[in-house]
Amino acid sequence: MTMKNTILIIEDESAIREMLSFSLMQAGYIVIQAGSAMEALRIFDEITPDLIIVDWGLPQISGLELVKTIRETDVISEAPIIMLTARTQEHDKVRGLDYGVDDYMTKPVSVKELQARIKALLRRYKGFGKSNVIHVDDIKIDLDSHQVLIEEKDVKVSITEFNLLKLFLKNPNKLLSREQILNHVWGRNSYVEVRTVDVHILRLRKVLKKHNKDFLLKTIRGAGYKFVAEAD
Ligand code: CA
Repeated sequence: MTMKNTILIIEDESAIREMLSFSLMQAGYIVIQAGSAMEALRIFDEITPDLIIVDWGLPQISGLELVKTIRETDVISEAPIIMLTARTQEHDKVRGLDYGVDDYMTKPVSVKELQARIKALLRRYKGFGKSNVIHVDDIKIDLDSHQVLIEEKDVKVSITEFNLLKLFLKNPNKLLSREQILNHVWGRNSYVEVRTVDVHILRLRKVLKKHNKDFLLKTIRGAGYKFVAEAD
């Protein structure tokens, strides 16, 4: 039961963006597209991609500026980034500076090579990145094994409830609207209704209640949900 990885492609040339997007979707990824840095920043409000592909040459805010912003932004700061550059010159120039880019590719991009590099980066981030266990208070989830532990006790949850819990634990004390939750857990282009979010939250709440932890999951009337983390 592997979850699909989400890749965000930020590229202003729509032909290239569409081509990359198509080939990555074929390869089994969930792909989100942005035509500018501004659009990407809006997307980050709703979605935390597993990997980001960004073109150096973007209008207004350059790819490099965007990478700096990403590295300073809490939720997405650790996503692996592949930068596309137009010429070898730029390629070398960027490489010389540490902007927090993980890999570079010169255009025209070979789709095969891109896919290989994506795989390598995702593997590296999974294996050697920060611990793949997220915990808030006594609730622990293992992103690799999909195990949920509450006060060290094994708790069974469905994939959807796991993904919900993961989203909440990654964003403690943050108000998440139903739309944001929907986009993160079911994907932006899903046909799932907002009501479905409530149904699954209810199920997650039941699981938490069994362990007297349901008080952590707050319903904010008319706004959404918030997972409360107590200060250490
Ligand atoms: Ca461009």
